[in-house]
Amino acid sequence: MRQRSPDEPLPRRLCEPTISVVMPAYDEAANLAATLGQLSAALRRLSSRWEIVLVDDGSRDATPELMAAPPAGVRYLRLTRNFGKEAALTAGLAHARGELVWLMDADGQHPVELMPAMLQAWREGADHVCAVRRARDDESWFKRAGTRWFYRLVNVGSPVPITADAGDFRLFDRRVVDALNSLPERNRFMKGLYAWVGFEPVLIAYTPLPRHAGTSRFSPLRLARLALTGITAFSNLPLRLWSALGAGVACCALGYGIWVVVEHVVAGHPVPGWPTIVAGMMFTAGVQLLSIGVLGEYVGRIFDEVKQRPVYLLAADSGAPPLEEPLHW
Ligand code: UDP
Ligand code: MG
Repeated sequence: MRQRSPDEPLPRRLCEPTISVVMPAYDEAANLAATLGQLSAALRRLSSRWEIVLVDDGSRDATPELMAAPPAGVRYLRLTRNFGKEAALTAGLAHARGELVWLMDADGQHPVELMPAMLQAWREGADHVCAVRRARDDESWFKRAGTRWFYRLVNVGSPVPITADAGDFRLFDRRVVDALNSLPERNRFMKGLYAWVGFEPVLIAYTPLPRHAGTSRFSPLRLARLALTGITAFSNLPLRLWSALGAGVACCALGYGIWVVVEHVVAGHPVPGWPTIVAGMMFTAGVQLLSIGVLGEYVGRIFDEVKQRPVYLLAADSGAPPLEEPLHW
């Protein structure tokens, strides 16, 4: 039998990994006790070395008071204001120390019962395990249709396929976390970045639980803004579409021009008057304004990137909790 050298890592199926759970929370004071309680009980069953990185995304409720003395195993990071979930996840990933990092929502919608199956997939070699919603029956028709269209649009133009219906309930190996942490962009559409780093995800279907308390923190307007970030960050399709439309309009105008000249020269009809000119001008002006708008959307994103502002700022950090000593196995 081959002797294992002392520095060689144990195979995944034998080792007990250090686990971090990154949990963004915005106004979730009513949910934190239940969510953190369930989660720490589940983590105790999975490993003896774990931490929860709770990222308070500028909550305006009682979260800071509740977390003045964080429960055992919890690291409390508070951002200086509400930077948005993508920034909160970025902050959490940067501070997580585990060999394995889970992302979970703070509202109790991500069932801890799925964690053993996700861990098992990692043990079998997956670097990225992603929980995918079985159905979206709990959402309004409007949100379901919007999501379907969003994934269709973003996937037409994106060089990497972005898994539809895969939220932020995921498990990453340290290699993926290091890759994500190395990406410098400011416009962070995390679902796109998870796909971009390229570790093929293993998908596990799940049914989200109802929210413990409160309602979704994403208004239709916020979702639309996030969708726009996703599309502009991962696709040049809108730019190409406008080029195609521009070419189409130019061809039509050329064809019409030729027809007018031929009709005038051959049939001797007078050239039609101003209504055609006005309609044509208004149409092309509209197309031009829209295309400038699309261009502006990309220029705005470039502006955000060149300013090089940090993605988030920390107001408080309770410090890393001790990771317990490994058990002997
Ligand atoms: N969240 C956040 N910052 C925000 C909005 C949401 O950290 O600006 C957190 C929120 O507290 C929750 C998670 O992101 O833990 C998912 O949010 P929510 O449940 O509102 O979204 P949904 O379940 O509707 O996708
Ligand atoms: Mg939720």
